[in-house]
Amino acid sequence: MSHDPNCIFCKIVAGQIPSRKAYEDDDVLAFHDINPWAPVHLLIIPKRHIASMADVTQADGPLLGKMAALGPRLMKELGVTGGFRHVINTGPDGGQEVYHLHLHVMGGPRPWLKG
Ligand code: 5GP
Ligand code: ZN
Repeated sequence: MSHDPNCIFCKIVAGQIPSRKAYEDDDVLAFHDINPWAPVHLLIIPKRHIASMADVTQADGPLLGKMAALGPRLMKELGVTGGFRHVINTGPDGGQEVYHLHLHVMGGPRPWLKG
């Protein structure tokens, strides 16, 4: 399924729920987390609905590479100079709350570990 009508992040992709966007292209969307755990806290998501890392296949490699490389670029654009963290939560024991794959990129002083 490329779009899940019940998925909150698919609704953000479709513009049905507002978000503060940092980057968008045909494949990915980056927006600011509504409940930030760091001074700059972005969520980078594929536009296509993938529920979690548990559903990723090797064919998704280029997409994940694009998401990973976008983090450093956006942190730089947003003025983060001292480093940042990439985090992906997977499944209930991994602390995943939204079941649309998302890469947390948290920058700024002392970003705490989520969860
Ligand atoms: P998870 O625990 O699934 O890795 O993280 C989900 C993240 O999505 C949380 O950090 C939460 O604050 C964020 N989030 C949930 N709903 C919304 C929303 O409607 N808009 C935005 N911008 N972030 C959201
Ligand atoms: Zn979705």
